[in-house]
Amino acid sequence: MERTLIGKLGEHIGKTVSISGWVDVRRDQGKMVFFDFRDRSGLVQGVVLPGSPAMEIAKDIRNEYVIRVEGVVNKRPEKNAQADRQNGDIELEIKAIEILNPSDAMPFDISNDTSGIDESVRAEYRYIDLRSKRMQKNMKVRSEFIRRCREYLFSHDFTEIETPLLTESTPEGSRDFVVPSRLNPGKFYALPQSPQQYKQLLMTSGFERYFQIARAVRDEDLRADRGFEHTQIDIEMSFVTMEDVMAAVEDMVTTVVEAMGHTIKQKPFPRISYKDAMEKYGADKFDMRTDDDKLSGVLAYAWVVNFPFFEKTDEGGWTFTHNPFSMPIPEHIEWLLAGEHIGEILTTQYDLVCNGFESGGGSIRAHKPEILEAVYKVMGFSAEDLQERIGHMLKAFRYGTPPHGGIALGVERNIMNLTGETMLREVQAFPMTRGGQTAVMNAPKPLTDKQLKELGLKIDTK
Ligand code: ASP
Repeated sequence: MERTLIGKLGEHIGKTVSISGWVDVRRDQGKMVFFDFRDRSGLVQGVVLPGSPAMEIAKDIRNEYVIRVEGVVNKRPEKNAQADRQNGDIELEIKAIEILNPSDAMPFDISNDTSGIDESVRAEYRYIDLRSKRMQKNMKVRSEFIRRCREYLFSHDFTEIETPLLTESTPEGSRDFVVPSRLNPGKFYALPQSPQQYKQLLMTSGFERYFQIARAVRDEDLRADRGFEHTQIDIEMSFVTMEDVMAAVEDMVTTVVEAMGHTIKQKPFPRISYKDAMEKYGADKFDMRTDDDKLSGVLAYAWVVNFPFFEKTDEGGWTFTHNPFSMPIPEHIEWLLAGEHIGEILTTQYDLVCNGFESGGGSIRAHKPEILEAVYKVMGFSAEDLQERIGHMLKAFRYGTPPHGGIALGVERNIMNLTGETMLREVQAFPMTRGGQTAVMNAPKPLTDKQLKELGLKIDTK
């Protein structure tokens, strides 16, 4: 018999159906055995009545067994109906059960919120943890958010393009994860901290509106809202001003989160300068919600603009605050080119903050070689170093690169705001532990001698 989804059982009252799924709960009452069955579409109660041929097998079944069940969908008597539950008005009278796969006892209780369970145990059994209601919801919210962003971008004439994973180090202010090259012993690729340079090169190629649901990898100290890996909705547009990018992103975010049932505190999103934000909130990521807003899940977005382009390094030189590929604000281009008033130069960077998190950030880029060169000179690069680092970008900018700008929205931080989660790992399917261990699988781990030899590597942990 063809499988019926549990969520559709209400359409089959009085009929015999077959369902497949997991045993959510089993309650053995001696003469009768009750079950809650679960599949991707929901839950339903089933009962094995006295004398049913399924009684013997029902006694053997435990929670989380995978089963196929045949039964009759009965309307529950009025007094037993549970209006507040999915399928609360029906019950499956079980005629036959087939065990598709038994299950060991669960390593922890998945019928409740699992956030209190030891992190390493949850990581080891992440595939089970993900069965819990909260994790199922978080993954579905994530999928819906990405789907809606994608749909929005496609309907606004963007092209989705993938950029390489094995690439050259691009400075985003973090350490790189590196990959040794077997074909070039002693040489290394870097995993992308972002697709920054490739997306700009796509502007040179004439893809005026690019986006990518991009993985970005940064070797940073792990924190609640930061992991080694994250996903970003990465966008780049040609012939745009700050206003154009901010307006496009604001419209996308508003369209997407409102369609998902959320309320935005203030529209259009308020704008505040970095200086005013620091004076008012003491931080450039701030939370404008009242206690009531927090309870009702309101999203308080704001744009932060007018960041300083450079800050002092510990050694007394200059480095970029956000993105070395940015353009200064038009009034400060002359200063940059002349190497004057460095500490006062403002960048075209715009950060989107929401509920205390930085949910996105981007800028208008330097699309002329002399401007990008000037940035690297301020940071103390010699003509030679500069060629080695960004020579390929300077070259590309000499072949008709349009003015352009873009942004990246952090998927995890946005999903944390949509779900109320405060830990990044609650919105990723297989996050690392705080110690940097992968979920379920055992990495990082040593290479075999054969692998080391092939890669021309020697380990020295002294
Ligand atoms: N590349 C930047 C980042 O990943 C975002 C951008 O400026 O588009 O943070």
